[in-house]
Amino acid sequence: MRITFFATKQYDKETFAKIGKQYPELELEYWETELSPRTASYVTDSEAVCAFVSSDVGEKTLKALKDKGVKLVLMRCSGFNNVDLDAATRYGIRVMRVPGYSPEAVAEYAMGLALAVNRRIHKAYIRVRENNFSLQGLTGVNFYKKTAGIIGTGKIGAAMTRICHGFGMKVIAYDKYPNPELDFVQYVDMDELLASSDLISLHCPLTDSNHHLINLETINKMKDGVILVNTSRGGLIKTDDLITGIREKKFFGVGLDVYEEETNNVFENREDEILMHSTTARLLSFPNVIITSHQGFLTDTALEAISEVTLNNAMAYLRGEKKGTELN
Ligand code: NAD
Repeated sequence: MRITFFATKQYDKETFAKIGKQYPELELEYWETELSPRTASYVTDSEAVCAFVSSDVGEKTLKALKDKGVKLVLMRCSGFNNVDLDAATRYGIRVMRVPGYSPEAVAEYAMGLALAVNRRIHKAYIRVRENNFSLQGLTGVNFYKKTAGIIGTGKIGAAMTRICHGFGMKVIAYDKYPNPELDFVQYVDMDELLASSDLISLHCPLTDSNHHLINLETINKMKDGVILVNTSRGGLIKTDDLITGIREKKFFGVGLDVYEEETNNVFENREDEILMHSTTARLLSFPNVIITSHQGFLTDTALEAISEVTLNNAMAYLRGEKKGTELN
């Protein structure tokens, strides 16, 4: 079976080529271009496509893929808010994903962002490179004995609770389905989490019901001087409201690995007009904000695990097996 990969980066190619050697039944074709309704119509002779978090896997794309004979969409990521599952089912296209490849990769990155904004490492790095060794404005806070509030304690959130616990923090969490294994975590309701946390880290998937979970109302319930980290999905935060909160000095620091405009590829396209008006660019103007480009997953361990599960998914599809990684 031939699989056309969209939005392929060099590191994807390297890892998939290495792991792909174990699967002679699969022919892997790599395209750098992103999946969209237009690019979907260029697929030829592939029964499967492989897409990513940034891909447009909406109704129009799925229709174009169906017209090209595609029967399987392999998401090489865990989130799937960019996939129209109803349309996929209607068009007879099976969608599979990689539910948990290396939760620690993302959780470690979330703590990295929290530490960087807290201790102003991003500012210090630039200063010292300019031969400026001043410490003015670099004062941070101790995490030890402070409260970490984790929203969503699935695989990544659970890993984040363990890291925060290791830092000597009190760990509280909000999740509709508390994880009984996390006996050091105190589950509280959302209002209590917002009001008590010194560090808030988002680890829930983006759904219709939690879109803009962080908005003016929830921001106003947070402690002054809170640190907010989002490595989940940009749509969990209403960016305009976050900007208002930052202006009102609610946050000591904000670390974002994901941002609302991510799927528009504002930065990859580098269209000045879009950049000027983008809320992401406005966010970047604040010195206590760090934004990175969705790299929480990017470790060698995670990339290998993603390749293995994705190609295993393809093999399960070929053999007609159920894997538990299918979304429809
Ligand atoms: P998971 O499915 O294991 O856990 C998600 C948890 O969130 C579940 O326990 C669920 O009950 C809980 N949840 C759902 N809605 C909630 C809500 N409104 N409030 C509180 N909790 C809620 O998922 P995971 O593997 O831990 O991944 C979490 C998210 O991380 C993914 O959905 C994805 O968006 C994001 N992610 C980001 C990167 C990155 O590189 N930055 C990589 C992988 C995943």
